[in-house]
Amino acid sequence: MNETLGFIGLGNMGQPIASNLIRAGYKLRVYNRTPGKAEPLVKQGAVLASRPAEVSERGGVVLTMLADDRAVEEVALRDPGFCERLAPGGVHVSMSTISPASSKELAEQHAQRGVAYVAAPVFGRPEAAAAGKLWICFSGPTDAKKRIQPIVDSVGQASFDFGENAEAANLVKLCGNFLIAAAIEAMAEAWTLAEKNGVDRVRVADMLTKTLFACPIYQGYGARIAQQQYEPAGFRLALGLKDVGLTLRTAAASEMPMPLGSLLHDRWLSAVAKGRADLDWTAAALGVAEDAGLLPAKSAQKS
Ligand code: NAP
Repeated sequence: MNETLGFIGLGNMGQPIASNLIRAGYKLRVYNRTPGKAEPLVKQGAVLASRPAEVSERGGVVLTMLADDRAVEEVALRDPGFCERLAPGGVHVSMSTISPASSKELAEQHAQRGVAYVAAPVFGRPEAAAAGKLWICFSGPTDAKKRIQPIVDSVGQASFDFGENAEAANLVKLCGNFLIAAAIEAMAEAWTLAEKNGVDRVRVADMLTKTLFACPIYQGYGARIAQQQYEPAGFRLALGLKDVGLTLRTAAASEMPMPLGSLLHDRWLSAVAKGRADLDWTAAALGVAEDAGLLPAKSAQKS
């Protein structure tokens, strides 16, 4: 495999994904706003670019794994060099969790500049990314999806095609993260109810997630919440608030009330207000413990 890919955004997720691409045999030109984070990849053979557009080559493929709408738009829309260097025939694979509206805008603007845009948001935390076990939803032009399929296959365990409209895959991702946030709140309440009534929260979580709730989200997040382990952050709480906010904005734009979504938004907003933005997003559970009059574990508190 001799193809050179561009890769922008080497945070918790971008690092392991880019590393797996190199392991799969791709050559990588990488960019990160904080250049120091690129070091491990440079050691693996990646070439470090000094600005985002530099990772692109005519007709090539660039993957972005940036934080949010603003970051992706700044890199791929505000800098005209990004599309100019990729066109004609290049593909931008956008793996971030961003709003469907932003994805639609990116797809339209890219198409006008001769670049295909594929939304490819992922399910799975950094450990899953490192193990090549992501679940990837993608949507965009058919030819571009065919072209990037081997790339997607080399970083994920399975992919799911949601059609031609770029925003569809982002919508699926928001549905999934809404369900995860709801599960976090529900488990935090259940485990805290046990604790308040003298039953070991860890044993309750263990029993329920081995039986009726034996699925990855309940098992992985359930244990974390039961043990109140909120550091290190695999998925930062600030990004969790971003996703609940995107879900509510998308719901409002489609005239759909989401009462549970509003509750979750307040929970995550309150956690950010309390200085927990850089804890894992399961640290929203601390708000449940506080409401119940329980002191959170010392290790779980920020400052
Ligand atoms: P992260 O560790 O916070 O990394 C964010 C990346 O975006 C960093 O490379 C950061 O650069 C860059 N960035 C942020 N703002 C920027 C800007 N204005 N201009 C240029 N670069 C900018 O986040 P992550 O956990 O890797 O998540 C990345 C995306 O994947 C997010 O959309 C997230 O919702 C999604 N996601 C995350 C997980 C997870 O478990 N972590 C799972 C699935 C999906 P610096 O290094 O300079 O800050």
